[in-house]
Parts: sequence; structure tokens; C-alpha cells
Amino acid sequence: MDYKKLAEILFPNIDKNIDYYEEKFPQRRLEKGACVTRLAPSPTGFIHLGNLYGALVDERLAHQSKGTMILRIEDTDHKRKVEGAEEVIINALNYFNINFDEGVTLDGEVGNYGPYHQSERKEIYQSVAKYLVENNKAYPSFVSEEELEVIREKQIKENLTTGYYGEFAKDRDLTFEEIEENLSQDKPWTLRLKSTGNPEESLEIKDAIRGSVTIHPNNMDIVILKQNGIPTYHFAHVVDDHFMRITHVVRGEEWLATLPVHIELFETVGWKAPIYCHTAHIMKMDDGNKRKLSKRKDPELSLEFYQKLGYSKEALLEYLMTILNSNFEEWRMKNKELSMYDFKFKLDKMSGSGALFDINKLEDISKEVLVSMEIDDVVEFFYNWAKEYEVEKYNIIKDKKEEVKVLFSIGRDGKKPRKDLVYASQMFDFISYFFDECFTEYESLPENVSNEMAIKLLEEYKATFSMEDNNSQWFDKVREISEKYNFAVKMKEYKQTPENFEGSIADVSTVIRLAITGLVNSPDIYSIGMIMGEDRVNERIDKYISYLK
Ligand code: GLU
Repeated sequence: MDYKKLAEILFPNIDKNIDYYEEKFPQRRLEKGACVTRLAPSPTGFIHLGNLYGALVDERLAHQSKGTMILRIEDTDHKRKVEGAEEVIINALNYFNINFDEGVTLDGEVGNYGPYHQSERKEIYQSVAKYLVENNKAYPSFVSEEELEVIREKQIKENLTTGYYGEFAKDRDLTFEEIEENLSQDKPWTLRLKSTGNPEESLEIKDAIRGSVTIHPNNMDIVILKQNGIPTYHFAHVVDDHFMRITHVVRGEEWLATLPVHIELFETVGWKAPIYCHTAHIMKMDDGNKRKLSKRKDPELSLEFYQKLGYSKEALLEYLMTILNSNFEEWRMKNKELSMYDFKFKLDKMSGSGALFDINKLEDISKEVLVSMEIDDVVEFFYNWAKEYEVEKYNIIKDKKEEVKVLFSIGRDGKKPRKDLVYASQMFDFISYFFDECFTEYESLPENVSNEMAIKLLEEYKATFSMEDNNSQWFDKVREISEKYNFAVKMKEYKQTPENFEGSIADVSTVIRLAITGLVNSPDIYSIGMIMGEDRVNERIDKYISYLK
């Protein structure tokens, strides 16, 4: 058959060839070892933790090697396209410090290897497709959905692998005249790969995360161009990753199953495949079983979840790094002062089996991150969050920045700083006692303290409280009140003979704490009093006394 002629009939408008694009998109001049990576999301409008996880791998590989990170939009499926989705993707990733050097940006496309929207690359795909037809490596197929279904049923009945391959791939053998005839009848056609693989064989492929992966070569004549001339993912990513000169393809493990197809496509066109890095799914424990995080069941899959709750991006990134690289935590312990970006991220330290996501661990990391941040940055982060996500709360704290700063500072100094702060909405709850608007309930008094006794203690406290006192003078007064009402000042003594006392000095502190904050546990009550000032302390005591009466 004259394949050149066939290619001309199928792609009459394509006048460029592979050589043209090889020249147009030359090898990049890179420093030794520099990686070129790409994130290739579909514009569905939903950007999730899995995307960020993969994007962080792309970002680290590219930026720590002085390479390039590209954003390519895989928008060939019009049905899945959502208005504004690109902005959502770019903004969400940018919030988490993932910045692209090339590709789609909010101000249009940047770079010499574009277009970066797959929908605008039709001509490039078709030029490669034309080359494949010219070389008898791809063919037009006119098989209809109904015919495919009949083939499928037969295969299932006979216990055979389903698909369009081997003896079932009848259109492989169409003559030139038959093709012409079909075309003259305007029959829709797809372009299929003429596969030469033998699945009985085994092939070792190197995956940068998983090491050596054994695959069985593909023998499916997969569709590479759909009826509308738009490529399938398989073909598009091969063409794009080649011409964009991508060195590392980081993508989810769901693509491992079709890796043989991709390897065959690269070989068929005569290109070198990039280094594949198949990341493990993010998993969670559910009733003792590990399972994939699901869009439907797990709100924590969406990035918005963390932004709304007010996790700092540093915390989330730091946490993702602990699941990405098994040696990160150890490094962090030894290098508390360094930025996460000083850590040398390595693909071979990634796990090939499910990465376990544990929200409790995220909380722990978040506490560490917040306690090691400068207090002004903590306050800034908190206010920015409130302004964006909780306007009502923002209005309450708006003019109280100094007080909020002091409240967050209580107990942060010293060798063993308190780690009370976890994420912004929790931080608000944590200091909400301070704001009269939020102060609604009292926790219970210790069992051994009656309301009458609590009132006596509080009246005494109110009478002696002075803003002039330093911490130890203040404490002496609490001690005196305790002694006066027979609350043990020495815990040891109290533990030995509790029957001799009303309670201990800890109970007295709790009563004061309840009056001032409504809580049994709170940061240092002396410090809180000093921030509130005498009038507000007295007001709170009076209010609690009338509540107890
Ligand atoms: N558009 C594909 C996806 O969102 C990209 C996969 C890849 O990175 O190659 O899953």
C-alpha cells in the first residue's frame, strides 16, 4: 500500500512534519542534572491534596536542580471543562508556593515550547499521527461502537482479554481501496496504533520511585486520535512530553496500567521516553483498613478544607514532605532552623505503596510550625485567614491585634514552649474567651468546691487583685487566699492527707480561671489578667459570682 498517499488523504491540511517540530522545540540548554517537569491537570475545577502532592514533587525536582516546571492544561475533553478552572488551579497552587516557570499563567502563556493548552496543539498531534500513517504504524479504523461491543461480548464469552487487537483488529488489514470507499461514504474514523507488542514477553522499565517495574508489552491497537481528530491522553502526553522536552513525568500510579502503551508509543515514533515517576495514592485508615482518599467521602481531600480551617501552608507542605520522603522527619529534627526547601528531596526515598495520610500527624506538625514561627508572622497569618474565611470573627478581633499577639504569646518562651496553636479556626476558639462577644459558657467547678466557697474565694481575689503585681506577688496572694480557706498550698501534703483540706491551691486557681475564661484549662491566668486589665477582670468575676448565686 502507498502509505504516504494514505497519510495525505487522511491529513490533507497537515504540511509540517516531525523534523519541523524537532527544530522548533530544540533540546533545552540545561545545567547538568536539571529536571524539566510538568503538572498536567485537566481543568475540572477540583484541585485536591493529590494534585498538590504530585505538584510538590514536580516543584522540588525542577527547582532544586535549577530546572523548569511547566503547567500544561489537558483540556481535550470538552465535557469536563469548567469555566475558571485554570485560575482555581493556579491560585491554589500558588498559595502553596508552587510557582510555574513556563506554560499557562494568569496572564497568558509563557515559554517557547507551547501552546500549553492541549486543545491548541491539534496540528502538532496530527503531524505526528501523519508520520505514523506514512510509516505504516497507525491506521484509520471505521469500526463502530456497536461492532466493538459485539467483539467485546465474544471475547468475554471466550474468556479472552477484551479490546481491539490481533485477529479482532480487522481494520488493520483494510486495503487502500476499502479505506477510500469508507472515506467517500463519510464514515467517521479514528486513528489506531498498529501495535507490534507481544504481551507474553516481559520488559523491565525503570521507574524513579518504584525502581525496576516489570511490564508486558502492549498489543492493543489503541485509539490515538478520536473521531474529531483530537488525541487521546496516551498519544497527547507522549507528543507533549517529547516536544516540551520533559525529563521527568510525575503522575499518579493509576497510569501504571497503561504504561506499556506509552512505552510502545515512544518507541514507535522513535523517541526516548522520559523518566517516569509514578506516585503512590494518598491513603487513610478507615475502620482499621487502609483505603484511598475519596472525593465523595473525605472532605480532607480538597485543598479548600485546609484553607477554610486555616492550616498554614507551611504546615501542610511540611507534612506532605514527611509523607513524600521517609528521611525528612529525621532531617527536620536535626535542622530545626532550616527551611523545608533546604532539604534535599529524592525520588528514591518515596514510597511506591500507599502514602498514609494522618490528620493527627498534620496537627502535630502544624503545632511545631506555628511555635517556630515569629509571633508577628503568626498574628499576620491569623488575621489574613480571618479576613478571608471568617468575616464575623474578623470583625471581633479587628482592632485588637496587640492583645491577640499577647494572647498568642503566652507560654511561648522558654525551653518548653506551649504548643497550643494548631490552625487558625482552632486558634480563634482558643482565645475566644477573651472576647465578650464569644464568652458564653462556663465549664464546671471542681467537685470539692461548692458555689458558696467559690464565691468567697472570688470575692477575696477581687479585693486583692492589683495590676501592679508581678507574677510572683500575684501568686503569693493566691497562696494566701488558699491558706485562709484551708486549701493545701503544698501538693505533697494534700496528696498525703486530703481529708484535712477543702482542696488544693490548684482548685483555687481553677475557680479564678473559670471566672476569667470560663475554662478549666487555659494559658497562664496571671498573664491573661494583665492583658484584660483590672476593669474587665472585675467585671468577669462579678458576672461569674452572679452566675453561681
Ligand atoms: N491529565 C492527566 C490527569 O489529570 C495527567 C496525567 C499526567 O500527569 O500525565 O490525570
